[in-house]
Amino acid sequence: MFKSIPVNQTSCCDTPAKEKSHLPVAIIGAGPVGLAAAAHLISQGESFIIFEAGDEVGANIRKWEYVRLFSPWEYNIDKAARELLLATDWIAPENAEIPTGKELVEQYLKPLAALPQVSPYVYLNSKVTGISRKGLSKVTTKGREQLPFVIHDASGTWSNPNPLRSDGIYGQDEIALQNRINYGIPNVLGTDKERYSGKKVLVVGSGHSAINTLLELAELQKESYATEIVWAIRKANLDEVYGGRELDGLPARGALGIRIQKVIESGAVKVMTPFHIEKLVPKSGKIQVVGTINGEQNVMDEIDEIVGNTGSRPDLSIVHEVRVMTDPSLESVYELAPLIDPNVHSCGTVRPHGEQELRQPEKDFYIVGAKSYGRAPTFLMATGYEQVRSIVAALVGDMESARKVELELPETGVCGIGVGGGDSCCGPVKVEETTSSSCSASEPSKSNSCCG
Ligand SMILES: Cc1cc2nc3c(=O)[nH]c(=O)nc-3n(C[C@H](O)[C@H](O)[C@H](O)COP(=O)(O)OP(=O)(O)OC[C@H]3O[C@@H](n4cnc5c(N)ncnc54)[C@H](O)[C@@H]3O)c2cc1C
Repeated sequence: MFKSIPVNQTSCCDTPAKEKSHLPVAIIGAGPVGLAAAAHLISQGESFIIFEAGDEVGANIRKWEYVRLFSPWEYNIDKAARELLLATDWIAPENAEIPTGKELVEQYLKPLAALPQVSPYVYLNSKVTGISRKGLSKVTTKGREQLPFVIHDASGTWSNPNPLRSDGIYGQDEIALQNRINYGIPNVLGTDKERYSGKKVLVVGSGHSAINTLLELAELQKESYATEIVWAIRKANLDEVYGGRELDGLPARGALGIRIQKVIESGAVKVMTPFHIEKLVPKSGKIQVVGTINGEQNVMDEIDEIVGNTGSRPDLSIVHEVRVMTDPSLESVYELAPLIDPNVHSCGTVRPHGEQELRQPEKDFYIVGAKSYGRAPTFLMATGYEQVRSIVAALVGDMESARKVELELPETGVCGIGVGGGDSCCGPVKVEETTSSSCSASEPSKSNSCCG
């Protein structure tokens, strides 16, 4: 999110302070969080401009539109956006219903982007390739803060998938096999049916995307018996992958764990765990996957297709010329890392946070939404909505409102089943007031039930 001017306007540097106060806030990415930022800016009477790389809003969600979400509408609509929409003839979806990705875009994001207060300021097919202070590289300090921008970088991570290899590097072997690897969630029972039918398919990864893929492949196998499914995961403990199941505060999320457990127990999927992929070797038209299990070399032969659901990572290249601090391991916003680090938090439930935690060394620049979590997989839209509400409050000088982070996220329920070992948070995460660094794994806050 940055205070910017259209690129062809060049008059800013003569009178920077004056210009700056008249510039719109720039938002990169018209996903749910970028559009929510716009709604909050409208509600505060602030101007904005949105750059969206895709040819429509919600472009990342469109890539998996046939998948049903796990959180109901209640959690998926930003409050300021809802108010703007309710002032029109928009019919709000039922709170308890759970949309598909397509429904999320069609019934919420598109109507929001079509509002007369939003639509003229959304620039589609406009990929941001770099951000800098006007005329200054990031080395120069003098006069920096007077030069224009306030940016919300809400560009997500979905279009930047992690590689299959456990060391996190895209090797030439993987690059050469791109036409046999799908890094998203394929439409196994729809447009991609032929691609996977009767094939030996390896699914890599242990998150909800992998579970969605596996459940669809298991359905395909019922009608196409020759379809073989192999699942490679690095985690040793399958219970950890199944999640909170009946204990999950979002029943649809819990159901994913329950369903995949049944599929695994039925023997429909061959599970390779803890499998660490080292290289891929093309062999007689098939793929050989070489890796280790518990340090011993192991080879999977005759693989036809691979689905890589190993998560995604933020594209930090666009923020190279601004002063940002990201966590060295997660690549999340630095201050968020202790709150979301999966090495520390076993629960998956993440405490809400606001402008204070999201602040960057570069004044008026914020990374929000899925991108703010870097490689951590636990981001929920509701968290992003609260992030942008808090930032916009700070932007208009209402620091009390900016500091007051109010958000109740449904618990994941995994703490109760003895998974992991990092923390002991089990309750729903409800925070009424927060200060930035008082809650971390090492220094628990008294103000919420996650860290306390
Ligand atoms: C299968 C699946 C199910 C999910 N279910 C849920 C759920 O039940 N509940 C929930 O809360 N969350 C769920 N999520 C997560 C949720 O979809 C994401 O958290 C959410 O989309 C993040 O919103 P965002 O606006 O931060 O980023 P995104 O939705 O990723 O949007 C980013 C936007 O930025 C654009 N962009 C990227 N780079 C640039 C650039 N350089 N310049 C300009 N534009 C750019 C992209 O095209 C995209 O439109 C699910 C995700 C998946 C994959």
